[in-house]
Amino acid sequence: MGDFYDLNKEYESNVFNDKVMKKRLPKEVYASLTKSIKNMSLIDPSIAGAVACAMKEWALEKGATHYTHWFQPMTGSTAEKHESFVNFKGDRELILEFSGKELVKGEPDASSFPTGGVRETYEARGYTAWDPTSPAFVKGHVLYIPTAFCSYSGEALDKKTPLLRSMQAVDKQGRRILKLFGSKAEEGIITNCGAEQEYFLIDESVYNERPDLIYSGRTLFGSGPPKGQDLDDHYFGVIKPRVAAFMQDLDETLWSLGIASKTRHNEVAPAQHEIASIYETANRATDHNQLIMETLKTVAPKHGLVCLTNEKPFAGVNGSGKHCNWSIGTTKGDNLLDPGKTPAQNARFLLFLSAVIKAVDLHQDLLRVSVATAQNDHRLGKAEAPPAIISIFLGEELTDILTSIMTGVDPVSKARVQMDIGVDVLPHFPKDTTDRNRTSPFAFTGNKFEFRMVGSSLSIAGPLFILNTIVADVLGEFADKLEKAKDLNAEIAKIVKDTITKHWRIVFNGNNYAEEWVAEAKKRGLLNLKTTTDALPYFTKPENIALLERHGVLTKTEVESRTELLLEAYVKILHIEALSMLEIAHRGVVPAVIDFSANVAKTIASKKKVSAKFSTKLEQDLLEELSTLGEKLGKDIAALEKAIASAKEGDTLKLAQYYGKKVIGAMNALRDTVDKLEGLVDESYWPLPSYGEILYSVK
Ligand code: ADP
Ligand code: MG
Repeated sequence: MGDFYDLNKEYESNVFNDKVMKKRLPKEVYASLTKSIKNMSLIDPSIAGAVACAMKEWALEKGATHYTHWFQPMTGSTAEKHESFVNFKGDRELILEFSGKELVKGEPDASSFPTGGVRETYEARGYTAWDPTSPAFVKGHVLYIPTAFCSYSGEALDKKTPLLRSMQAVDKQGRRILKLFGSKAEEGIITNCGAEQEYFLIDESVYNERPDLIYSGRTLFGSGPPKGQDLDDHYFGVIKPRVAAFMQDLDETLWSLGIASKTRHNEVAPAQHEIASIYETANRATDHNQLIMETLKTVAPKHGLVCLTNEKPFAGVNGSGKHCNWSIGTTKGDNLLDPGKTPAQNARFLLFLSAVIKAVDLHQDLLRVSVATAQNDHRLGKAEAPPAIISIFLGEELTDILTSIMTGVDPVSKARVQMDIGVDVLPHFPKDTTDRNRTSPFAFTGNKFEFRMVGSSLSIAGPLFILNTIVADVLGEFADKLEKAKDLNAEIAKIVKDTITKHWRIVFNGNNYAEEWVAEAKKRGLLNLKTTTDALPYFTKPENIALLERHGVLTKTEVESRTELLLEAYVKILHIEALSMLEIAHRGVVPAVIDFSANVAKTIASKKKVSAKFSTKLEQDLLEELSTLGEKLGKDIAALEKAIASAKEGDTLKLAQYYGKKVIGAMNALRDTVDKLEGLVDESYWPLPSYGEILYSVK
């Protein structure tokens, strides 16, 4: 059978999953561990030794020689330090060892990870703590143990800790509401996420000739090819054999790691594609999305390709996003954003739906903060990406229903329903009636919300912990009222009606890309935080710190240090981009313009030498244009150099604002000149492969 791939057998083959645990762990240990995992509660320390031993035996059989505490520092990617299982007993007798203590806690020398100042005031070292809710796996020769990364005084130093804390917050507040609907005490709440990851694939050869792609992941020069995405012929088009081979390789690697890769297709821009895996708990989805991004990058070179996960690798064509499909469900498996089959389920649905509407309206700023990066600034508000204004799309049917709740008038939609909550049955919202709007940043798509502002390279932990926290807060408020209510149904109806009426301004079903929406949103009082530096200061607003502290998700110190880090990252990214532009301009573009101009001048002279009658108008005009633009090029380079040199260290927000205005301004001017020159200079002189060559590099 040679190439036969046994998906049944290969799926999760490298994961210490439930089946493996059940088989290898003593019965009581298995029961205790799975109970903790399900309830997201602390592990009984006495079982750690047995779990570590089983994990080690299993990993050794898989060919592992090392283990690592795998964590997600504030850099946005993952970190790992390998320890081999090698140890000695007695007189240098080899034993392969992995203890419960080593499983539960690690102490990486983490002093070089960014902390935003947390450790200056606290401990110099951090520790990693095993997160049993995300399964361990073997990759290469290493056993990976998902962990959270904290300082000794307990400050979160990573992306995962606030996410885990926020999941607990939703659970705590949501449980109170479930209980009122008659759920058993042990039934809890989980948040789910399915992320759709977009990316570009280009040939290695063109990548290697683009220092901008190498240094910053996106092109800093270049103008659109004659054929971009105008014909829309790439979207869902036939997948080229080379790309298909890459995708197959990718999927097989992901499946072995327990990532349920489901959908793959070509996206709108040439060379752009998407992968989506089946949704799972927010925690696992976060780990798995990190692994997807990593695997995209490691599998591509095996096919002579390079994968770009940057938000806007090419100006003028679509950028890449990462739509986060998000929902809340019960540990029993019910989806709370699904209308359901009974009146009680409908009431519950409307209550949770109103909670999301209120949370998004009240906390537009935090949601915007959660997707704010230098790279995403280039994407938001451009081709096929939502604008920087947060709004919710609900679709016609649901809008009708909510409108009738607010007005007391029967809905106009065909689905005739009366609105005494708790009595009547709501229709289901099939995906095709809720999914027509692709322009909304936050769209209800049948039984989940799709947060479309998330950038392609971002860890989804940030957007998810914000979503969880803001919704937990509103659920808590609702629970306060409902627990005191004499007539539960009447109180639910009142809460739903009052909430949607008060927060209706956040609902917008129209075209979010339209100019008029910007004006309309302003009239409604919605925030329009266009850039990262506009958004980030909102993170540290006292009410936002209070909200995050109230739910034990982040402390004031943690919020402040995170803001500092995000601002620093913004400056660093722009600084690297500016330096890359200058290097390319000095070493590539300037010499090309000089050489080509010299050649044109030589042609004029030699033509005239042959005969004074020959016209040299074409050459003269070209030379004139080259000289004019060449002069501007020199000035633009000098201006960018000056802009960088004049940056003042000190206040990070001020520095970031300076970069966002002055440095970006100078970068844009330089790019404009260089792109014009690219249109004039003979391609054999030009130092960079063109957009056309890159976007159509994979044959
Ligand atoms: P689209 O039509 O938006 O491109 P895809 O099929 O590409 O849809 O992706 C949809 C994503 O939403 C998948 O990851 C899917 O597993 C996820 N999803 C489906 N139902 C839920 C849910 N209830 N909660 C969270 N995510 C979900
Ligand atoms: Mg999709």
